[in-house]
Amino acid sequence: MTSVIPTRFCVLASGSNGNCTLVEHGEQRLLIDIGIGPRVLTRRLGEIGLNVSDLSHVLLTHEHGDHIRGLDALLARQPKLTIHCGPGTAKFLGESTVGHIEIVRPDRDMAVGPMQISTFAVSHDAASPLGFRIETPAATLAYATDLGTYDDAVLRHLDGADALILEANHDATMLRNGPYASFLKTRIAGPKGHLSNDQSMALLAQVLHSRLRHVIFAHRSAVNNSDEAIDKSLETSGLASESFTWQVASRRGPLPPVTLDATPHGPPSDDGPAPNGNDERPENGATSLPQEIQTMLPFPTNLAW
Ligand SMILES: [Zn+2]
Ligand SMILES: [Zn+2]
Repeated sequence: MTSVIPTRFCVLASGSNGNCTLVEHGEQRLLIDIGIGPRVLTRRLGEIGLNVSDLSHVLLTHEHGDHIRGLDALLARQPKLTIHCGPGTAKFLGESTVGHIEIVRPDRDMAVGPMQISTFAVSHDAASPLGFRIETPAATLAYATDLGTYDDAVLRHLDGADALILEANHDATMLRNGPYASFLKTRIAGPKGHLSNDQSMALLAQVLHSRLRHVIFAHRSAVNNSDEAIDKSLETSGLASESFTWQVASRRGPLPPVTLDATPHGPPSDDGPAPNGNDERPENGATSLPQEIQTMLPFPTNLAW
């Protein structure tokens, strides 16, 4: 029997002030978004045995600062990088990205080595925001954050995946009673904002299937959400008793990498709970603005390696 190389992914950072996920299959390693600076990226890749020079491709969901802040600095370090993004996103990228960009469009597949990648449009206040579905010989991973609502195309692309990285941005009550200005509350809760915990669970219930093994709840607001609120929403939705394992991604530290082999009903192969207390401070370029305002800043902030 021929064995299939497993696929590994690791959420290196997630939240309103920085998003970055590594996906690896064999020698091919790509990032989904690069919203963290070079120092943090290098350290977090190092924790899973990788270097920046191991990266070959970056998929960008959209141009908000929490998704592209570290792009210029990464390109300076890894000039062989290919950047895949929507046409609207490309217009916001800096001079240094010229010659590196490959435009992708919703529902048009592309390949990175053995990884087949399909993109889908999401509803968010950005130029051409995307989600991704990555199929390898071992497994399927789907990624959807920064969406205020969802349609059939989103559901179709999340359906049947072995692992989901899915936004659970805010608790609706915490947002409503929280400190943000009303225009921000409206933006976050609106159809071009971010999914609440309950919206995320409702979406999850629609794409749930017996082979779903891992769910990572991502892009969690530090101000308008908590692990306890996500836990409660999961319980209320009735999904907590399902067989998938789940974790909440954090901006403070990477989650343990998850390895997906080709055994659909095999035991979970992640390495345990997320590390706690790894309190990293923002790098140069992060501002003291409220996080959801930072996410609206379209241009990357220059970062030095
Ligand atoms: Zn974001
Ligand atoms: Zn955004």
